[in-house]
Amino acid sequence: MSACDVLIVGGGPAGLAASVAAARAGLSVLLAEQRPRLGGAILRRALDGGPPRMAVPVRHLRAWERLEAERCRLGERIRLMCETVFLGVDGAGRFLLEDRAAGRVKAIRPRGVVFAVGAVERVLPRPGWELPGVLTAGGMQLGLKETGEIPDGSVLIAGSGPLPLVLAAQLVAAGRLPVAVLERGQPIGTGLRHPLLAARAMASWPHLIEGAAAMARLVRFGVPWHGGWAVRSVRQAGEGLEVHATDAAGRERLYHVRHLVLHDGLRPNVTGLPATEAAGVPVLRAGDCRDVLGADAAVLDGARAGELLVRRIADPAVPEGPLPAGLGAARRLQDAFTALCAFTAPPIPPETVLCRCEGRDRVTLDALGTDPGARTVRLIGRFGMGLCQGRFCADTVSEFGGFAPGALAGTAPRWPLRPVSVAALAALDVTDSDEPGVGQDAANGQSC
Ligand SMILES: Cc1cc2nc3c(=O)[nH]c(=O)nc-3n(C[C@H](O)[C@H](O)[C@H](O)COP(=O)(O)OP(=O)(O)OC[C@H]3O[C@@H](n4cnc5c(N)ncnc54)[C@H](O)[C@@H]3O)c2cc1C
Repeated sequence: MSACDVLIVGGGPAGLAASVAAARAGLSVLLAEQRPRLGGAILRRALDGGPPRMAVPVRHLRAWERLEAERCRLGERIRLMCETVFLGVDGAGRFLLEDRAAGRVKAIRPRGVVFAVGAVERVLPRPGWELPGVLTAGGMQLGLKETGEIPDGSVLIAGSGPLPLVLAAQLVAAGRLPVAVLERGQPIGTGLRHPLLAARAMASWPHLIEGAAAMARLVRFGVPWHGGWAVRSVRQAGEGLEVHATDAAGRERLYHVRHLVLHDGLRPNVTGLPATEAAGVPVLRAGDCRDVLGADAAVLDGARAGELLVRRIADPAVPEGPLPAGLGAARRLQDAFTALCAFTAPPIPPETVLCRCEGRDRVTLDALGTDPGARTVRLIGRFGMGLCQGRFCADTVSEFGGFAPGALAGTAPRWPLRPVSVAALAALDVTDSDEPGVGQDAANGQSC
């Protein structure tokens, strides 16, 4: 039934590296990517096919070019399907892919699968975070990368970690000065108190240079960066937002802005993914979807997963083995960053929305009883039952509901992972032939 040996889901650095590794071993690969172009979060391409809208560090470009050259050398062994979304595995054990360009679902039976679907942003709930005008750092960056456009009006960036700082510098480069950047943690103070930790966080020269360059750009253009400040609440005020921020000493600030950009870190995008096996075939995870370690590590991890999958297809009992040393170093770097930016989230009032898709708040969660069980929280409370299927809210709801992480997802993945039209399901294609829409033609000009 299947014309491919291996299915790789996700066309970022990890997915492309996994595809190349499996194809090098002589297997045929189908690489499915939901966006119109390959590149992933780091090399998100312009939607119109034009040149990238934003500068990307040269080392990432070089690494990508090497992978692309190898993909081209391997020719027909790697087939691309862009605008194609992994939906799940059906009762007959077929992996379902929605080919959005063709408007139909395709069912295949690969011999092995690698999920390289990246990370999702973590945004902690606070009153008003569901209002129009509040968006995530990744959401704004995606718009900037794909269209070069920034929504009209003033922008305040708040949260934690490197992405808010990077986005602020990118906005400045695009000609829009953010009102301020509020970092929840206090990396400078923490680093001064714990020099060993600071040294570990500065162990990678490329990351250090990128961070310093971003900060220098903010200083040069007079964009304030405040460590130790967190957004407590947001309210609609006329056409814009009134944002209330506080620091650990209880000092307060009010900002009046058109847009508030939030970001509290990244975590692996694993909602609804099978873990190690599905329908009798080996399944692996690679890149940020296994562990959020950044783009350099994603290339390494993708190659590792591709090679391991080839061995697992031959012998499912092959052990995983130790991770490459580069991945261990990347984990230590991330741990040091996390410790430097550590923060304690302030308590939130009961009426704070936890699940944005379904508009469910803490009052609703508490009303379900002292020990409602994950099933009740989902089916009666409707938490995690909206468009995102818990991808964004499940961790937070689990935390407030006292569940183990992942409990809200249930014991088995619920498919389809994304909304799919009945028409696309009715047009189910189980032939997996090389008809138009499946081969290199569907790669939107990315054939070699
Ligand atoms: C929002 C965001 C912004 C970032 N910004 C920066 C930055 O400015 N600088 C920096 O150094 N690093 C940044 N990173 C980190 C960096 O992009 C990643 O570490 C790197 O791209 C990881 O590569 P990956 O291949 O594991 O995942 P990704 O590059 O995220 O690739 C995953 C791919 O899977 C696709 N996908 C997801 N779900 C499905 C599905 N169901 N079906 C089909 N395809 C699917 C996605 O469209 C994506 O192309 C960012 C990460 C995120 C999430």
